Amino acid sequence: MLDNVRIVLVNTSDQRNIGSAARAMKTMGISDLVLVNPKELPDSKASALAAGATDILAKARVVATLSEAIADCQLTFAASARSRTLDWPMTTPREAAAKVLQEGQQGTVALVFGREATGLTNEELQLCHYHTHIPANPEYSSLNLAMAVQTLCYEVRVAYLDAKQSHFPEALGDYPTAGEMEGFYMHLQRAITNSGFIVRNHPGKVMNKLRRLYTRTRPDKNELNILRGILTSFERNNKSNN
Ligand code: SAH
Repeated sequence: MLDNVRIVLVNTSDQRNIGSAARAMKTMGISDLVLVNPKELPDSKASALAAGATDILAKARVVATLSEAIADCQLTFAASARSRTLDWPMTTPREAAAKVLQEGQQGTVALVFGREATGLTNEELQLCHYHTHIPANPEYSSLNLAMAVQTLCYEVRVAYLDAKQSHFPEALGDYPTAGEMEGFYMHLQRAITNSGFIVRNHPGKVMNKLRRLYTRTRPDKNELNILRGILTSFERNNKSNN
């Protein structure tokens, strides 16, 4: 299960934080690290802070966008230092860990962390299923990046050890990956643009709202296929009427 937990660091400025994050991960038994467009690639400064966790740095993958980093993940959590930035499903770190435990038995689950200075953008936050806030001092709630990684990885480890003692929760349904959901959103956007429901040059916030709707209701693979089938049938019908 812990092998299915991915840590994603977005656009990190200081490679020393990447090293410390690798160490935090390894102490908790988590090893899959993906770096989205880091400002500095990890070298000796990161290794110094990684200590015995340089193997995690060595096999870390570097990608250009958050979408790429999570494309094969079925469940994603965005760690945010702000307690409620958008109207989006929230979890505590403990609730997040319980969900990680449940779905990590089936597929890859990602915990996503933002930039040291500015965190995650709204667009990045909206790519994730849940926002997770570590309930820190409300007057000073921003943890160092690696410490936030440590805190969430610790919760996952505790949930995992508890389950090993008693039992693992039953796996859930078969959910699409983030990449499959993106494919659906592109299809939906194309269909409702072509039908005239949204105006090409003034799309407004409809797609954001639809993303929120589908994130909240979370269709399984079968349901997503039905939705895509409906879109395709409308498109086919439109074409034959034109
Ligand atoms: N000033 C930034 C803080 C960034 S700290 C902001 O306002 O968002 C770097 C990253 O560490 C954050 O993007 C988040 O992923 C994580 N982090 C820091 N404090 C956190 C907290 N209290 N809860 C959850 N994540 C936190």
